[in-house]
Amino acid sequence: MVAPAVQPPVVIGLDVGGTKILSGLVDREGSILAEHEVPSPDGSEEGVLAALDEAVEALLDDRVAAIGYGIPANLERGTGRILRAMNLPLDDVDLVARSRERFGLPSGIENDASAATLAEWRRGAGRTAQNLVMLTLGTGVGGGIVLDGRLFRGWAELGHLVVQQGGSLCTCGGRGHLEVLASGTAGDRMARDLWGMDVDAHTLVDRAQAGDDDARGALARIGRSLGAAIASLVNVFDPELVVVGGGFGAAAGDLVLEPAREAARADAIFPANRGVRIVPAELGSEAGLVGAGLVGFEALDGVR
Ligand SMILES: [Zn+2]
Repeated sequence: MVAPAVQPPVVIGLDVGGTKILSGLVDREGSILAEHEVPSPDGSEEGVLAALDEAVEALLDDRVAAIGYGIPANLERGTGRILRAMNLPLDDVDLVARSRERFGLPSGIENDASAATLAEWRRGAGRTAQNLVMLTLGTGVGGGIVLDGRLFRGWAELGHLVVQQGGSLCTCGGRGHLEVLASGTAGDRMARDLWGMDVDAHTLVDRAQAGDDDARGALARIGRSLGAAIASLVNVFDPELVVVGGGFGAAAGDLVLEPAREAARADAIFPANRGVRIVPAELGSEAGLVGAGLVGFEALDGVR
């Protein structure tokens, strides 16, 4: 008789967003073995918590050893309690304690951008780095930091770095933040300023790729704002690597990254400006789910 093979543990990762909750069975290598998607309910906290439970239950089996959540929220340092979520009615909730109690499994939570950073560091563009910064350019701008081989568990609201003091109003109420200047939403706005209302950041990227000077100029401005923020981050953290992801970041590619590299080199302090590499993310839209899974493995391994 053949002995049954010992099944390596898998975890359930949840990439929680304002429009959908994506859950996945993730193995230790960061491969997604199964996926399940439910729309994010709007309305009540109970509704969202029920949808999160459903997203776990849809994939729960004997192999599942832990649960990891990546969620667009500010978390209390040390405890992981959700203080405030973006686009979700979750305020002052200890999701991890609730998850442990309900499912009897180690559970971890991380801000969604920090979870994506964990994924790019362990399984993507940052595999060789001990110190890295990631910035995701999407509807907004998110980010995460790895310092001395550990994910930084603090605030990491990198989209709200001040790039242009007194500049345009940010979603957070501040002014001139990176998010106003270098997000896909900034791309939408620049496209409309150039060509009217029926265009967006996709148009901007398409026309820049086709050689349109106005479009290239707009993306270069976005890149220089990004580079200014990167220079400040380099001057604080001296990372080996800055990884740039997000839907808009991936679409714009070198049209944004090349001016960002130049601006970062100009403002970062020698010799950090020579060593730092600014590279595109590798995991694309999977980073959130893979990262949530890796947060689950960290909970399983007692890293957190
Ligand atoms: Zn802001």
